[in-house]
Amino acid sequence: MNEGHSAFMALERIRVFMDEAGLSFAEALQVAQASQMFTTHTPVPAGIDLFPPEKVLHYLGHYQQHFSVGDEEFLALGRTDTGDFSAPFSMAVLAIKTATFINGVSKLHAEVSRDMFSHLWSGLPLGEVPVHAITNGVHARSCVAKSTQALYDRYLGPNWSQANPGAALWERVHTIPDDELWRNHEQCRSHLVVVVRERLAKSLTERGGSARELTEAQECLDPFVLTVGFARRFATYKRATLFLHDLERIRKLINGDGHGRRVQFVIAGKAHPKDIPGKELIRSIIHFTRDEGLSRSIVFVPNYDIHVSRDMVAGCDVWLNNPRRPREASGTSGMKAAMNGLPNLSVLDGWWDEADYIRTGWPIGHGEDYDDPDYQDDVEANALYDILEKEIVPLFYERDKDEIPRGWVAKMKQAIYLNTPQFNTARMVKDYANHGYFAASDRAQTLISQHYGPGRELAVWQSRLTDRWYDIRFEEIAISAAADLRVNQPVKVVACIQLGAITPDDVQVELYQGTGGRGWRNSHWLCHTHDLPGPRCHGQKLLRY
Ligand SMILES: *Cc1c(COP(=O)(O)O)cnc(C)c1O
Repeated sequence: MNEGHSAFMALERIRVFMDEAGLSFAEALQVAQASQMFTTHTPVPAGIDLFPPEKVLHYLGHYQQHFSVGDEEFLALGRTDTGDFSAPFSMAVLAIKTATFINGVSKLHAEVSRDMFSHLWSGLPLGEVPVHAITNGVHARSCVAKSTQALYDRYLGPNWSQANPGAALWERVHTIPDDELWRNHEQCRSHLVVVVRERLAKSLTERGGSARELTEAQECLDPFVLTVGFARRFATYKRATLFLHDLERIRKLINGDGHGRRVQFVIAGKAHPKDIPGKELIRSIIHFTRDEGLSRSIVFVPNYDIHVSRDMVAGCDVWLNNPRRPREASGTSGMKAAMNGLPNLSVLDGWWDEADYIRTGWPIGHGEDYDDPDYQDDVEANALYDILEKEIVPLFYERDKDEIPRGWVAKMKQAIYLNTPQFNTARMVKDYANHGYFAASDRAQTLISQHYGPGRELAVWQSRLTDRWYDIRFEEIAISAAADLRVNQPVKVVACIQLGAITPDDVQVELYQGTGGRGWRNSHWLCHTHDLPGPRCHGQKLLRY
């Protein structure tokens, strides 16, 4: 299930198992769940679909009838607090409750998701909330420019696009001659300039622009100037206008530092039709650049689509991303740019937080979280200008006698060498297979084997366990530790647990050390049942360690 929107499919799969195999609702749920996985993409609670209970019962009542369950049991599938009868029905909760593997789309996003969904596992330390991380990737052959692919094919061999991180062929990136990589990149930049001018002219002609505007469009951008690219959806959290924060500093960058070392910006993106503030951002970029006379050097490319995106990630020099951390669950355009040899300049959010952001680009900030958005904009815009002025511009314009920026090309090679194998769909699909699909497939095969016998058994066991769980009592916990406890000194812990009607084979006991609440993140389980010495008092249905 890719995002919560898709989670109604769980209901349909349960129905199919009931109809085709004659399973009860509880049995069908186990079987369906065994083979379902959920990938979440939304790092903010407000982004998750919630529906009023009446609406859910109205539109999905036929499923409820089919399942022969009451209103509350049906609605519990989408509720965190199943005792709150007015609570809305959450699509993410439905997906989580009907999946056996859950993942976020970057390491940071998985961490944020564990926190966001932790109330579904109250009592579990945050680090143990079962949301895994499978970082997104992009399809190399679809996002690297054709001429650059030919270059990689020639120097790395044709398997580079799917080769694992660490494969020997990646070492050959360093054998690509600097001048060849650089000339190829300069051609990509020239091509981008042509494409942008054409797009602008076409859009102006369609809108009946003046002859002067048309001439201006055809003269915008300079194919030899350091080009910063920014292209993505215009959601407000991505802060497309952050680079315009300080007019004086942006003017200085654009006009150069007196040595002709100028910077230009190519911006593209679409806002969702209902996203009024997002559309306002686009208008403000266009108006600002026109009013300030900067429209030759700050160009908004109209009609953003995959073709513009391809030309931009190949033809810009630096890829900019400045979302409000941690709102960018992964982000993928920066990966596309990196595969084309572009260093990234980005806030430490999504994929960039786990990339080698020193060798393959520049981090904006150090992964801070802010409470005051205005203050955050101030700090991060200034960091952005500082890096551009002090690091990016000097490195880009430092040329040797052959007019090649050796330091810059070295950084391009690092971006290709480190990021192409890592942030690649080939790696991503392997991760999904190894961590999710194979295990889910085995589980499902087991449960449906022998005419669904194991699936039925699992449902019975689960319901027995649930019914009797609250009979469990901790009768005594004794910890014998010396007052002046030293490192490596054994500590004896004795716990007497009354299991009631549950058998010792049904449970696993774990010894946990650490504080509760938020501090649980930094604590760890000391040992599990199988590590623990001591007698097991099966006969008395009492566990003793
Ligand atoms: C890659 C791509 C995106 C997604 O970019 P993000 O960095 O993930 O926001 C959006 N639109 C197009 C056309 C793309 O190619």
